[in-house]
Amino acid sequence: MKGIGPRKAAALAGVGIHDLFDLFFYVPRRFLDRSAIVTIADLRRGDYAAEPSLQPDLSKSDPDLPGVRKDVTVMGEVRSHRVLGSGRRARFVLVLADRTGSMQCVWFGGVQYWRRAFRIGEVLAVSGQPSWYANVLQFVHPDIDRLSSSGEEGEMQWTSLLNTGGLIPVYPSGQDLARAGLDSGGFRRVLHAAIRTYLDRVPETLPPDLIRIRSLLPLAEAIRCAHFPSSLDDIPEGLRRLKYEEFFQFQLKLALRRHSAKNEEGIPFSVKSALARRLVESLPFTLTKAQVRVVNEITSDMASARPMNRLLQGDVGSGKTVVALLAMLIVVENGYQALLMAPTEILAEQHYKTLVRVLDGLQVNIRLLIGAQRSKLRQDVLEDVRRGSAQIVVGTHALFEKGVSFPRLGLVVIDEQHRFGVMQRALVRTKGENPDVLVMTATPIPRTLSLTLYGDLDVSVIDELPEGRKPIRTLLKHEGERESVHSFVHEQVRGGRQAYYVYPLIEESEKVDLKAATLHYEELKEKIFADLRVALIHGRLASEEKDRIMEDFKAKRIDVLVATTVIEVGIDIPNATVMVIEDAERFGLSQLHQLRGRVGRGADQSYCILLSRRWIVDRAARVGGKPGAVEEERLAERRLAAMAATNDGFRIAEIDLELRGPGDFFGTRQSGIPEFRVANIVSDGAVLAEARQDAFDLVRNDPSLSDPSHRGLADQLRHRFKEDLALLRVG
Ligand code: ADP
Ligand code: MG
Repeated sequence: MKGIGPRKAAALAGVGIHDLFDLFFYVPRRFLDRSAIVTIADLRRGDYAAEPSLQPDLSKSDPDLPGVRKDVTVMGEVRSHRVLGSGRRARFVLVLADRTGSMQCVWFGGVQYWRRAFRIGEVLAVSGQPSWYANVLQFVHPDIDRLSSSGEEGEMQWTSLLNTGGLIPVYPSGQDLARAGLDSGGFRRVLHAAIRTYLDRVPETLPPDLIRIRSLLPLAEAIRCAHFPSSLDDIPEGLRRLKYEEFFQFQLKLALRRHSAKNEEGIPFSVKSALARRLVESLPFTLTKAQVRVVNEITSDMASARPMNRLLQGDVGSGKTVVALLAMLIVVENGYQALLMAPTEILAEQHYKTLVRVLDGLQVNIRLLIGAQRSKLRQDVLEDVRRGSAQIVVGTHALFEKGVSFPRLGLVVIDEQHRFGVMQRALVRTKGENPDVLVMTATPIPRTLSLTLYGDLDVSVIDELPEGRKPIRTLLKHEGERESVHSFVHEQVRGGRQAYYVYPLIEESEKVDLKAATLHYEELKEKIFADLRVALIHGRLASEEKDRIMEDFKAKRIDVLVATTVIEVGIDIPNATVMVIEDAERFGLSQLHQLRGRVGRGADQSYCILLSRRWIVDRAARVGGKPGAVEEERLAERRLAAMAATNDGFRIAEIDLELRGPGDFFGTRQSGIPEFRVANIVSDGAVLAEARQDAFDLVRNDPSLSDPSHRGLADQLRHRFKEDLALLRVG
């Protein structure tokens, strides 16, 4: 594009803008309404409406609609200009006149530049907030457009107005962008040029039917409205189409992926399994109704000739593991390999041991594969896997490293991988010939998010906890109450229970935090719990060491386990009834919920004690989880208040999403959540639902996108999503 040199291109690439399409979706943050053009006499009389604040009616009716500020615009001729003052007080003063009077425009700083910028007699359009200074009417730092100085005032070229005289877009920028000439004004110029030159070449992607039924603007028109609207009404209309476009493209890919997966050959397992029955019989409990229901959903997928792609959702402690075990045993009995992948080594070890214990005597060859294994053992495991003689393989992501191949892969179970996005799951499937895939997560995600993240999966939900569980009691405590917390832990341990003490370990300051945790541990061990058995576990320990400590804790040879977040997910030790979380304000909400989920796993009353600084605790207690009243409260207080208010993981997830926004919800990059530029998956749920419905309907009716009215879409996929071309082979 003309006007975009290597520097600008690099700066644009830095914010993910690589082509015109990206650029068009870089929408303004807000608008300045400069459409009121008045005379200088009007300004003198105060006869104008300029409102520096946001217009409340607009921002209220739609929170995503960019705010609008009202400025006034004056057109006039440069009469004179001069530099006044010197040094830091230097300012450039320009006298502007129309036929009704004159006024000043003032710029502080940059006087040498401004002095050369204007010719006497030149005609300008000037926008800003008028003010009076020492009885002189002025604009300070106004935005300007130069109008052709030939011709009469009445004939001035409106088309040359870019910064004044209409609804003016204000673009988000940043230091890097501004340095490359792409401050808000720079973006405005670039977008204006791009739209002028290329807009008529923007192809329509949606079939006419959809545009009509959903009352959408044509794409090109929407782009214009979102950037250079002719009226305020244009803005939400333009944005709605762009949001729809983003959601639709994404959902179309999901729909195609799902369609193609449904048409692939999977393995039809025989789901009558003696092994599974033996497991169920050997359990010390009976399955909940919800567990039975999801087992049925899973086994009917497994019996079908199509590969399974299913999400198993259930709050912490709802009993997902045993469901996965049953599915794995079916696979084993059919002569295939099953793979169970966990996010941490500790959890992988735990699953491995559980399997070995419950399958004792059943002649199933179970292997553990984690990154930290000695190479000899590792070689041995790999060989076992490669030969196909390892029937169940438990591990971490080490399972997916190069060089691990599974000749008879029948099922992949991914545990606690709420960070596993669509793309990573596609990778999993390459490990075998269309194995069944079961993704398990305790993070009950709000519906809009699950539609984006797991939109191509079928969903099973365990919506009840095993019988007899008592709700965990969550208490907020501060430093001053430490004594009482310690004596409470003592009491619990005397009653035969065990406790966790968790310290935050924030990545940037891992060393410092670890040191703090270690110091605290020494203090707990030597002074406070001198009579108890206390141990420390953290991520830096060797695998065998971690393993030994968890084993001791499980066997009740440890009373109090001091830990970093290595125990965050999955750990299952029902006799532990107290979770004390230090510096609780430093944890994210979903992390707190996961940690709390380490207790309350048996029949005993369990407690989660959140320790924090006094004022945070006091205020969080006052906030008390009342949703409306807390908007202005600090985030930490809201998180603690939410924890104290509810045990419901779904509610927690919703609040978390609200507090953090979708980008951060699952952590960073790995989230697998596509980044939408215009749309917001939290607040644009209605548009998302429509786009999803339409995309899935469309693929159902025309999976190969061969209908002429779908050519725009097919082309779009071909050009913009090359990596997804394979999706179009189907049908
Ligand atoms: P999660 O869904 O968080 O992964 P787990 O599978 O670790 O939960 O199960 C939590 C605990 O509940 C385990 O100790 C497990 O043995 C136990 N459990 C699972 N199902 C039942 C049930 N139906 N009745 C009683 N306890 C159960
Ligand atoms: Mg689990």
